Formats: sequence, structure tokens, C-alpha cells
Amino acid sequence: MTIPFQVNDPRAVIEADRRHVWHHLSQHAPYLRSEIDPRIIVEGKGLKLWDITGKEHLDAVSGGVWTVNVGYGRERIADAVRDQLVKMNFFGGTLGSIPGARFAERLVEKMPGLSRVYYANSGSEANEKAFKIVRQIAHKRYGGAKHKILYRDRDYHGTTIGCLSAGGQQERNAQYGPFAPGFVQVPHCLEYRKHEQGFGDLSGADYGVAVANEIEKVILREGPDTVGALCLEPMTAGGGVIPPPEGYWDRVQEICRQYDVLLHIDEVVCGLGRTGTWFGYQQYGVQPDIVTMAKGVASGYAAISCCVTTDAVFEMFRDDEGDLLNYFRDISTFGGCTAGPAAALENMAIIEDEDLLANVDKMSERMMGNLHALADKHPAIGDVRGKGLFLGAELVADRQTKEVLPEPLVQAIVKDCMAQGVIIGATNRSVPGYNNTLCFSPALIATADDIDHITDAVDRAMTRVLG
Ligand code: PMP
Repeated sequence: MTIPFQVNDPRAVIEADRRHVWHHLSQHAPYLRSEIDPRIIVEGKGLKLWDITGKEHLDAVSGGVWTVNVGYGRERIADAVRDQLVKMNFFGGTLGSIPGARFAERLVEKMPGLSRVYYANSGSEANEKAFKIVRQIAHKRYGGAKHKILYRDRDYHGTTIGCLSAGGQQERNAQYGPFAPGFVQVPHCLEYRKHEQGFGDLSGADYGVAVANEIEKVILREGPDTVGALCLEPMTAGGGVIPPPEGYWDRVQEICRQYDVLLHIDEVVCGLGRTGTWFGYQQYGVQPDIVTMAKGVASGYAAISCCVTTDAVFEMFRDDEGDLLNYFRDISTFGGCTAGPAAALENMAIIEDEDLLANVDKMSERMMGNLHALADKHPAIGDVRGKGLFLGAELVADRQTKEVLPEPLVQAIVKDCMAQGVIIGATNRSVPGYNNTLCFSPALIATADDIDHITDAVDRAMTRVLG
């Protein structure tokens, strides 16, 4: 395939990047010693990307961080954003916009039981809004007592100090404390590692209910009158690609209702089709009070996130008595940028017009089949798991003991795939010693050929790295 672009002075761009850009999640020493060049992506179409050297890549991770759900190069979204921006780009604070109103209406159609959309710009920010809503309710209704927020080991909710306080990934948190008080951890629900939790004898729903019951124990230990909310990813993403076990979500819902604990589901990764339903929680028949979302909302064509609530939550902020403090005293400057909802409207229309949720189910089956075939061949694959186009393969040094494969070997597999022109991910330096799950999350438009191309590259990489 010919390179679809020409860059005038690629060397100058690479050197400007090397000298001045501080990359996310990166150790810069190898760039600064000029051992490697920073990789600059220039163009994308569908699942394909081209970097500044002209090398073609197949993106198996939707922009690296589960974001570009509808694929690269969508003129339809770019046109809608352009039209909106030249008409009315921004007004912050209290005023509304046409795309803001239209997208909110379309979004809640997909979320029965939820009705109010609060706009922000990133996943972290949407989660901060949710935490503030919970805290304000605690003050309004319970004299501040019901302010604690429970979060789960291995889950991630964002990069701010507030979100890291609710962060279950030690490597992301290390060296950033002290954290905000009032956040309390509950155990992860990764069945493959249940033996490490003392649940080795239980399986399926027995494990799911038992590990959900641990949440109840934490609520009882802390005191139900101090716990305001439980914040969970529908499926843990960066912490290991963990679909909760059978029985888990039903029990979680029961516990939240019994102890009057708001259920906040962080759909930043799963939202907008990633698992084959509009939202990850819809896989489990659970009914949240608050849902946050970001990445797939506009597939990275604009920065937008949403914090969506039920009427019951929203109504707690309504005041007909004239109490001047009784409203959600929160603002997000760029929550007023119209590019976000304009892009989100088209993004949602593409998912519908191209029947992408059905494609996710089809391609998921194919990729699962391919990954299981790889597991038959490579003993290092200890577990294959996930839902929709959000799949993982956990790598172990020993299937019997489940000792993790050392991280440098996991990284060598990822690098080998990169050299082959296939970008895959690995759990994101999240749980020290457990960064051993390969992640696959191609765009929802992936074809059978794309899926086979990805798993063939992994097969070759594993053979080369591990024999
Ligand atoms: N929640 C989850 C589940 C995430 O995976 C992430 C980002 N990886 C966030 C929240 C934070 O989103 P952002 O980086 O947009 O702030």
C-alpha cells in the first residue's frame, strides 16, 4: 500500500518532539540518548495508521487507549465538527447548545432509567463530577456522614489526585500521595486469581457472590451510614481486562440497594459499544445511579466526557425553597465546547448506521476463537477473557502455579508485534508484578481479516520471544 502522505521535513519534527514533548507514561532516557526516535503518527484510515517514517501499522488498541471506536479518518464526524465550530464554537457556564441538547437526548435513549447528562472533557473529570455529586448528597441529606466512596482493587478511574484516591492500581498511585480521605478499597473479582484471595475452592457464581459479599463486609466495617457510593468499572480495563464473574453484578446491586449506596459505574472504556452493548453494565442487567463515560463518546474526534445520572439523583439538587447553595456548584470550562457533542452525535449515528454492535459480537467470537487456539499452542497463555472487542490474554511463566510471566518478556512480545506493524497493548504498568495481560481492543469496524492479522502477529511474536 502506498503511503498516503508526504511530510516536508520528518527529521525536524522528530527532533522537535525529542527536545520538547513530554510523552504520557514514558521513560524518555532512550529518546534522549538517541537510541530510538519518538514515533510520530501522521495519518489514519479505518484501523490503519502510518507513522512519519512511512511505516504502516494495524491498530489493535483503538488509539492506544480504547478510544477510536469508529476508526480513523471519519470525514462525517470532521465535517459535523467543522460546521458546528464555525457556527458557534463555545459558550461556557450556564448556557446550552443545540448539539449539547440533541446529544443528551440521544444518549439517554440508550440508557433506560438515566436522564441527565453533565458535560466535561476527560474520563477523570467526569469521575470527579460523580464524586462531587456523591459528596454533596452526603452533605445535603446526611449531615456529611455518608461521604465514603468505595472503589475496587485493580480498577482505575483517572489521573487527578481525587481519581487516584479511588485508584486500585498501585503503580499508577506510587509517589503521588497523600491522597484524598474517604475512599475505601474493596477486592478485585478476577476469577483466574481467586486462589490469591483465599477463594480457591469456589467457582462461577459461587465465587462471584462470595467476592461481592466482600463489598458488604467493607460497608459493615466502615458503617453503612458512612458509605455514599460504590464506584466500579463494568469490566476492569487497564487492571487486567477483567469481566466480573457470574452472579457478581446481581449481588452488587442488591448490596447497594440494601445499604442505600449509590452505584456509580465508570464506563470510560466500555461506553459506546466496546463490549457489544451500548454500555458495559448492560451486559449484566444492572441499574446504576450514575454513569461516567469518555473515550468512545466521540472516538477521539473531540474531547468530551459525560456524567449521566438518574432523575432521583438530579432531583436531589433541585430546590424550590430558594436555598442558595442547593445546586451542583461545579463548572468545566470546556464542557461548553460544542465540538464534543457535535462529534458525539455523528459517532453514535455511525455505530447505528453501520450496525457496529452486531459486528462487535461477530468479531468478538472470532477473536476469542483465535486467542483460544493460540492458548492451545502457547503454554504461556494462562487465561483468555473479555467481552466484545475488549479481550485479554494473561501470560504466565507456569500454568500450574500461575506465576506471572516477567514484564520484560511481555513487553518483548508487544514490541515484536510493533515491529511487525501491529499495535497491541499490555496491562498498563498498572499492578506491579502483574503487568502481564496482552490487551486487544480494535475499532468496532474490525473485519475478520483484521482480527486474523492481529492474532497471527501475536502467534509469531510469542514463538520468537518464548519459543
Ligand atoms: N476510567 C477508566 C476506566 C479509564 O480507563 C480511564 C483512562 N484510561 C479513565 C477513567 C480516565 O480517563 P482520562 O484519561 O480521559 O482522564
